[in-house]
Amino acid sequence: MTTNTPDAAFLASIKTPQQDFDTAAIRQLDSAHFLHPFTDHGSLAEKGARVMVRGEGIYLWDSEGHKILDGMSGLWCVNVGYGRTSISQAVYRQMETLPFYNSFFNTTNVPAVTLAAQLAQLAPAPFKHVFFTSSGSEANDTNVRLVRRYWDLLGHPERHTIIGRVNGYHGSTMAGASLGGMAGMHAQGGLPIPGIVHIGQPNYAEAPKGMTEAEFGIVAAGWLEQKILELGPDKVAAFIGEPVQGAGGVIIPPPTYWPEIQRICDKYDVLLIADEVITGFGRLGTWFGSELMQIQPDLITFAKGVTSGYVPLGGVLVGSRVAHVLIEKGGEFNHGFTYSGHPVACAAALENLRIIQDEQLVNAVAVDTGPYLKQKFASLSDHPLVGHADSLGFVAGLNLVRKKAEHLHDCVPFDQALHVGMICRGYMFANGIIMRAVGDRMIVAPPLVMTQAQVDEMVDRIRQSLDDTLADLIKRGWV
Ligand SMILES: *Cc1c(COP(=O)(O)O)cnc(C)c1O
Repeated sequence: MTTNTPDAAFLASIKTPQQDFDTAAIRQLDSAHFLHPFTDHGSLAEKGARVMVRGEGIYLWDSEGHKILDGMSGLWCVNVGYGRTSISQAVYRQMETLPFYNSFFNTTNVPAVTLAAQLAQLAPAPFKHVFFTSSGSEANDTNVRLVRRYWDLLGHPERHTIIGRVNGYHGSTMAGASLGGMAGMHAQGGLPIPGIVHIGQPNYAEAPKGMTEAEFGIVAAGWLEQKILELGPDKVAAFIGEPVQGAGGVIIPPPTYWPEIQRICDKYDVLLIADEVITGFGRLGTWFGSELMQIQPDLITFAKGVTSGYVPLGGVLVGSRVAHVLIEKGGEFNHGFTYSGHPVACAAALENLRIIQDEQLVNAVAVDTGPYLKQKFASLSDHPLVGHADSLGFVAGLNLVRKKAEHLHDCVPFDQALHVGMICRGYMFANGIIMRAVGDRMIVAPPLVMTQAQVDEMVDRIRQSLDDTLADLIKRGWV
């Protein structure tokens, strides 16, 4: 094995930061040729993209030499931080040994098998099987195929409809975007596809005034029961949700919500799919968010944190209820991808999981840095622009409001057309911190390796950026 390890000089040479990038030329080529995901290309061409060139730990550097604290872990994925040589070495070794082979025709490979076994061990109890994909979207497409196949095999092909949630995010393939509840995505391309419907999200900010969080959790879960009864229980295949909604704006559900969802799924025999693409692999201080929410899903979607984003990988953890039927009664399951069980991606995942375990990152988020982030982040609530700041594990969000009030339901929001969140995001960037804006909600999901001192640094930069935003809004006469 060691004969294939790249030598220290080689590694040093590729890790030396290059200083002289022709940023203008890269920007020009970028707008001439690269269609970015989820991007208004006209406006990007005007502004020019920021060119990221290097990462180390929780920091990024752009082509102009700016050092930026990455509050978003890339895109919710770089859990172990940037610059992990042991992952690049594991990938390099695997590429030298066996860069690819398929798993279609009675063949397998060692990293995929090892990873499947390890994931089965890390997952909550009744999970023994894994179906690999290369992304979260493909994994959710797989879920659609799996649950419909499951009911077909049991002689109930009419159990076909899958229930998702408004403002949920499950990826951007045709099925992924359909399972999600993003109006802007549905509006382009004739989505959702047939057989997928949605209920409201458990967003306490939208609860009727006077309702407690606990009460609202039961009410929001009740929308699932209403929808099942409306469709007819014998028509419903599955319910899918993120334990904590990520792309929707870090929507942390009331503690009463998920146990009630579980009760309803059990009552009507509806399969429960937990999309843990963000909440998996330690983000909430547990290996999987399902543990924290005290649910036992039948299927778990994973991606992102499984490799910390170093190489694309996703998949579905298939619980015993579904696996049993698929294997015992199944015959051939006519679904899969060229890269299902890709040996290089699986090698990256194995090393990534070793790091998470050896450095006890899940425990750190549970008992050390997570509670510390909660306390520091909550302290931002005293800022005049912040209506409400909350967090869970290593996800956090705050709402920018025009007028504060004691209770979040009494805060006065900004006119959405003003795009105050985007203005604030600009100041965050200028102050060297990446925070994402979802409307006027500013969110973070930092790498799990962030220390307490770095939490302080992040929160200081956020506060400075909020001050800058406020000064700007006062100048505009908006507050
Ligand atoms: C990112 C994400 C996906 C989609 O994953 P891709 O790898 O981008 O296809 C699905 N579900 C959730 C919850 C996500 O956050």
